[in-house]
Amino acid sequence: MAHSCRRVRPPGSAWNLEADIAVIRGRGLYRHLRTIDGPEDAEVVVDGRRALLFCSNNYLGLANDPAVVRAAQGAAERYGAGSGSSRLISGTLAIHAKLEEQIAQWKGAERALVFSSGYHANLGAIQTLVGRGDLVLSDELNHASLIDGCRLARADVRVYPHKDLEALERELRAASARRVLIVTDSVFSMNGDRAPLVEICDLAERHGAAVMVDEAHGTGVMGPSGSGLVEELDLRGRVLVEMGTLSKALGSFGAYVAGSRALTELLVNRARTFIFTTGLPPAAVGAAAAAIDIVQREPERRSRLWRNARALHRAIAAAGIATVPLESPILPIVLGDEARTMRACERLLERGVFAQGIRPPTVPEGTSRLRVTVMATHTEEQIERAGRALAETIQEAT
Ligand code: PMP
Repeated sequence: MAHSCRRVRPPGSAWNLEADIAVIRGRGLYRHLRTIDGPEDAEVVVDGRRALLFCSNNYLGLANDPAVVRAAQGAAERYGAGSGSSRLISGTLAIHAKLEEQIAQWKGAERALVFSSGYHANLGAIQTLVGRGDLVLSDELNHASLIDGCRLARADVRVYPHKDLEALERELRAASARRVLIVTDSVFSMNGDRAPLVEICDLAERHGAAVMVDEAHGTGVMGPSGSGLVEELDLRGRVLVEMGTLSKALGSFGAYVAGSRALTELLVNRARTFIFTTGLPPAAVGAAAAAIDIVQREPERRSRLWRNARALHRAIAAAGIATVPLESPILPIVLGDEARTMRACERLLERGVFAQGIRPPTVPEGTSRLRVTVMATHTEEQIERAGRALAETIQEAT
């Protein structure tokens, strides 16, 4: 249905927003939204075209799992559509407290606190723990929310080259700040590789620094009970702040920070992104709780995910396409140039496979890529088809 709208006149020439867009276009960085009509399944309809989905973080297929969806419905029926207020006013519902207990238990932590998104959790945790005069040591490929958390905290920030332990140690030796916090993704979201967490914890302990790990892409995917890379590497108790999302492998929305009782108390009292925002809606909480149950009870979903990841990795390698060693369900194919990447993304979609092109500032200049991700719900045949389509597309692009 057509709708009437009134064109807003720019307040002055400085407000020519079309010119801002033209600059973005000129740099080959213009982004637009693609619409998927239906759930994040292995096969979707994207902008009206049927395609295999190979860029979702719905790693275990839980976003559209019937039991998870039913749990969301049940929570909405019992608690309503929204939580009505910020957590510190009247927005803490029994379902929030229950989820926090469940996460703490899963993570082997004293406490957990749920945030409205991973972005909120990272901003709030860093800003709570460090401030002016403190130092954050941050991997150069950390997620934007960690980078923005450092900005909000107003602490000094030293960015170390990706996974470079020698550089990290040099920074630790030179540091004279009261508090030093090392911040890293456990699995790097656009690279698919893992941080050397054992060595980072060793270094931190030697130099009296604390460690914060973002398990957005480890949660549900790694560790004997699926709680993340910290669990897999037996680092519980050595990481001050374990953050993770409810929105990727867990298929819902929101995030958590797990750690000591003092940490969560401090977050409730200081984290601006916790205090000044509305509590997570009941449906999201109910869905996340059901998803964690499934992750713990059904390790076979993780096995299927890893079997699929190995199959796609083999197909990509067999086609002579360069990618990273297999460390997660994220398999980037770096094409370098922005325009070439977006052309490859379009050609791939024409061949019936959707893997989004990723450009700066999400990735460093000159490393634009197709970020290919696998899900437990892909069939062997779908993975073979994707492998063939990728092989043809990348051959054309190089
Ligand atoms: N950290 C990492 C590593 C991520 O990949 C993401 C999601 N893109 C986030 C944090 C933010 O999480 P959310 O989408 O829940 O805001």
